[in-house]
Amino acid sequence: MTAIHTLGELRASGYPIRSVKDEMRENLLATIARRETTFPGIHGYERTVIPAIHNAILSKHDVILLGLRGQAKTRILRSLTSLLDERIPVVEGCEINDSPLQPMCKRCRRLATEKGDDLPVAWMHRDERYREKLATPDVTVADLVGDIDPIKAANQRLTYADEEVIHYGIIPRTNRGIFAINELPDLAPRIQVALLNILEERDLQIRGFPVRIPMDVVLVFSANPEDYTSRGNIITPLKDRIDSQILTHYPQKVETAMQITSQEAWTERASKVKIEVPDYVRQLVEQIAFVARDSELVDQSSGVSARLTEPGAPRGHDGGDDDLPAPFRLRHAPSGDHRQSGDGVRGRAAGRRGRGPEADRHRGGEAV
Ligand SMILES: [Zn+2]
Repeated sequence: MTAIHTLGELRASGYPIRSVKDEMRENLLATIARRETTFPGIHGYERTVIPAIHNAILSKHDVILLGLRGQAKTRILRSLTSLLDERIPVVEGCEINDSPLQPMCKRCRRLATEKGDDLPVAWMHRDERYREKLATPDVTVADLVGDIDPIKAANQRLTYADEEVIHYGIIPRTNRGIFAINELPDLAPRIQVALLNILEERDLQIRGFPVRIPMDVVLVFSANPEDYTSRGNIITPLKDRIDSQILTHYPQKVETAMQITSQEAWTERASKVKIEVPDYVRQLVEQIAFVARDSELVDQSSGVSARLTEPGAPRGHDGGDDDLPAPFRLRHAPSGDHRQSGDGVRGRAAGRRGRGPEADRHRGGEAV
């Protein structure tokens, strides 16, 4: 396929026109038919989260993953690219990855008219078709959707209504791909409104100018349910338009947790001393996380990340944006709380004890 360099050759090859959702659906069906694993490296979700994701993709839904920190939400979203074709044809040099068979932007439509079958085709790899944004209060509509570039308009003597004066944001640049927004409730409500149009109409409108560019983008989101109330919210019309809401969870079995830790923790180090960690110690470490998740001494609203048990691993090794430095936080009595102060002291002391074996393992691992 990648030997094809012009529109004429692409047409002759019989390459189909299909949306990203159709592409993912067909590739998922093929993967299931071959009895291959769809999300390698994700453990403990085989009977819960993964079938729900399969259903969402087969139904061509946009998806939101709801769950606490350290439940592999970001990792799942990133691995959706494995369901994309390895490469797709795009009009060479197009900012929004137009299909040569269906050019959408003004530049490519003009080029297609000028060059006909000689329209140059480039091949885009699936890794380039996934982009993500961590929702923070400073994200603007211009970042996500785009803005008018007044200098371009002045230089080229174009009006603001001309689509060639648009500076595209990250979503149109992910056209024909997957766009992920992590921690959606943190996105300001007016920005969420801007996403509505893309979800509903599948097109782009910039600053109210009637530039309509059809978008073919799969939108996926993650959110921590706790943040709904504490930091922000998902506006109702947007929530209604995200068809599949999938709840993630922590590992249900110690064995699964051990599997995750041994996959993620940085234990194979170039060291002169070989460290043997017996299985019962590994189990114990996981058990601490399990107990912490049930403990009233631990602030459950922050969650006890599956990463708690892998403190030796370098930070950011899986790039999980949804994690915060503290593996788990103790529940602090809010000011004005009427509980007796002794409670808090006991809580903190017990908490320190709770962390003891964990910390010891860490120190031991480093010192030996
Ligand atoms: Zn284009």
